[in-house]
Amino acid sequence: MKPAPFTYHDPRTVAEACEVLATRENARVLAGGQSLMPMMNFRAVMPDHLVDLNQIGALSYLRVANGALEVGAMTRQRELEISADVGRRCPVLREALRHVGHRQTRNRGTLGGSLCHLDPSAELANVTALLGGTLHAISRRGRRDIPFPEFAVGYLTTSLAPDELLAGVTLPLPRSGHGYAFVEFARRRGDFAVVACSALLRLDSRGGIADAAIALSGMSHAPVRPAAIERALRGQKPDAAAFKAAAAEAAKLDAAGDPFVSAGYRRHLARVLTYRALEQAAARAREAAINQYETG
Ligand code: FAD
Repeated sequence: MKPAPFTYHDPRTVAEACEVLATRENARVLAGGQSLMPMMNFRAVMPDHLVDLNQIGALSYLRVANGALEVGAMTRQRELEISADVGRRCPVLREALRHVGHRQTRNRGTLGGSLCHLDPSAELANVTALLGGTLHAISRRGRRDIPFPEFAVGYLTTSLAPDELLAGVTLPLPRSGHGYAFVEFARRRGDFAVVACSALLRLDSRGGIADAAIALSGMSHAPVRPAAIERALRGQKPDAAAFKAAAAEAAKLDAAGDPFVSAGYRRHLARVLTYRALEQAAARAREAAINQYETG
């Protein structure tokens, strides 16, 4: 199949791109094209105007500032994957990236594209939820900062207005000495996950759980942060009993069913993957505590 006819725009600045989005009906933004082009070829989407962001250098950046990772929307997934800063300060993001498609798709695919495409089990959306990310939208009307839970509003649907584009994302960095995990179940390596679970754990000086964050994706239209489960973990010992109780609660979360995967199976995966993620994050948190002790 081939895409329906469209007018191609090749802006060199964010302002130019915003001008096109503000003055043309039925415009779509092109980033890495790894989701949009197949959808256009299948005529699942038929934009009249295609606004190519690939020549706008200002949308591609990666920096650590004010205790956060600041990432431009056009930053390639592969660049994030091989970044020393990401590896050192946010290893859960690097671990998740290894599950995103294939190296070839990560070479072209971008962080902004993945978040705006918003596949329910996109790994990058999961980690953005886990870290409490804020998305920075921009239009001719100005800039708007959107907390992730207010960004993902429905199946493949964001709260971006038609004249807005995503300029960047701010991901708060976990405190040093944390443990992390990203686990998923997918039919084949490189496929979108059926269900994925990420976790961050920080231990206190007595080895108890000081802080816990969990993100589950693939259960419904966007990743969920089960706040009650996170709260229940705080103060507990990081042991099998605590993780079994957390996993049992995860299995009670709302889950969507479809012709390919039943809601019950998704809940079963939520249970299994939550346990695995917490167990792995706890082991890494203990390791981090020993390293911190040894290095003083
Ligand atoms: P595009 O495809 O260019 O755009 C995607 C959507 O986002 C479009 O609607 C576009 O208009 C919009 N958009 C893009 N950038 C912006 C912006 N800055 N502002 C506003 N709107 C914007 N993804 C996973 O998460 N996990 C996987 O396992 C996975 N496996 C894949 C396997 C294959 C074989 C392929 C081809 C893709 C796979 N993907 C997977 C999708 C891939 O990660 C895409 O990169 C991602 O979904 C979209 O990123 P992109 O930069 O290519 O965006």
